[in-house]
Formats: sequence, C-alpha cells, structure tokens
Amino acid sequence: MKKEINHTVNICDLCSQVSYYNCSNCNVDMCHDCVKHHHGKSYNSSLYFSTAQDGFYCKKCDDMLSKSKSDKLYNAYKDIQNLKLEMLEFDKCAKNKAKILEANLLNLYKKLINSI
Ligand SMILES: [Zn+2]
Ligand SMILES: [Zn+2]
Repeated sequence: MKKEINHTVNICDLCSQVSYYNCSNCNVDMCHDCVKHHHGKSYNSSLYFSTAQDGFYCKKCDDMLSKSKSDKLYNAYKDIQNLKLEMLEFDKCAKNKAKILEANLLNLYKKLINSI
C-alpha cells in the first residue's frame, strides 16, 4: 500500500540536503556529507557507545568552545572524548610493553625447560 505522508524534515544550512545533525550551541543544521567533510563534530556521551544524549557542534562553535572552555556541557563532552583518547593511547603502550614482557618470559621459560 502506498500512502502519502507529509512530514517536516530539517535541511542542512550549508548544502540543503536533509539534515540529521543540529549544533547544540548555535542550532545550525547539518547533513552527513557536511559532517564528513569536517564542517562539524559529533561527541559521544558515553565512553563505549553512542546514546541519545550524544552532542554535535558545528566547526565554528567547536573551535570557539574548545578555546574558551566556557560551556559546561561542551567541556563534559570533551572530557569523555579525552578519556577515550587516553585509553586508546594507554592500550597501545600496554600492547607494546606486553610484547616485550611476554618475549622475556618465554625466553626464561625456554631456558628453564632446556636446563632440566
Ligand atoms: Zn550539508
Ligand atoms: Zn554551531
């Protein structure tokens, strides 16, 4: 069955495509393509997954708020993002260190086995 439904969609303020992002600071609407081309940035509200409380900021607001640090909500998104970056960096370091420690252990283990 086909049925015509009238519904309102948001339109990207940059290129007029259907928009799915809305800047939490200045309310500008933006589409996937413009976000992909770095005209805006989305932030997860949780360390491990995205939720309905995720944030989005256009490039202008993102640059401005990241410099001024005056917006509490923006800072809170940024804290989550920074923790995620720290975690990824720690994970990378831990993996590198694990390789060295595991190789060392294997070496000692082989020496012990061979000396029996
Ligand atoms: Zn667009
Ligand atoms: Zn904005």
